[in-house]
Amino acid sequence: ADLSAHALVLTDAHKSFGSNKAVDGVSFSLAAGQVHALLGGNGSGKSTLIKMLAGVERADDGRLTIGDQTIALSDMTPARAAAAGLRFVHQQRSTFPELTVAENLAIGGYGFPLAPGGRVRWRAARRRAAEVLEKYDIEAFPDQLLGELGPARQAMVAIARALQVGGAGGILVLDEPTVSLPDTEVRLLLDAVRKHADHGQTVIFVTHRLEEVFAVADNAILLRNGQLVSEVAPRSITRGDLVELIVGSAVDEI
Ligand code: ADP
Ligand code: MG
Repeated sequence: ADLSAHALVLTDAHKSFGSNKAVDGVSFSLAAGQVHALLGGNGSGKSTLIKMLAGVERADDGRLTIGDQTIALSDMTPARAAAAGLRFVHQQRSTFPELTVAENLAIGGYGFPLAPGGRVRWRAARRRAAEVLEKYDIEAFPDQLLGELGPARQAMVAIARALQVGGAGGILVLDEPTVSLPDTEVRLLLDAVRKHADHGQTVIFVTHRLEEVFAVADNAILLRNGQLVSEVAPRSITRGDLVELIVGSAVDEI
């Protein structure tokens, strides 16, 4: 197969918890520079799949190809995932409301100027933070406490930090980033995600909300009981037809 047009190819991913087949033979190929929604109801296997990609849940089987590199999923570690260009914003975001925006961006040290011994150079870090905020169009100041921002902007800072890992390209993986956001904030965050893709970023966007798929995704991968039941372009399908595809999968808020 010609893998060059794809940012990521997942082949035959498996993960069971005892007799529960949480992820049961999932394969897909993701085109570069698009938003790929991973859509499914509660318990359909979305987070388990993401955790296997991240190397935090050990896969029983499957492999991942990124560029010319193929990794057995059972050998995946967080370090290998980062080296392959995968950048994660997990549902439990590790941002700190009581720290400044610049401090939050600099945590982890990626792309930020470090002194010998690994200490952050704060004056340079604030300048770097200002550049990052400008680049990603985030209305915030480096010295502002993160907790002063609205929830969408806090999520944007978490995404901007994830994108500091490694070089250009890569794949941004967002696990349910809109959960617990009010509607107006959801809109802001979806616009930001869309903009990342419009600038060439490949995005995996995990959600159980149908309306977000129509709002932001180029491609939707539907999971049910750990299996891929369908892959569709939301643009080419009506809401009713998509609902029909996922009937039985208990997707919320249809
Ligand atoms: P989703 O993210 O789509 O809601 P999950 O991947 O969290 O689904 O869960 C898929 C299935 O795997 C569910 O049946 C869930 O109960 C089970 N599961 C997930 N994590 C564990 C775990 N650590 N131990 C046992 N079962 C788990
Ligand atoms: Mg989940």
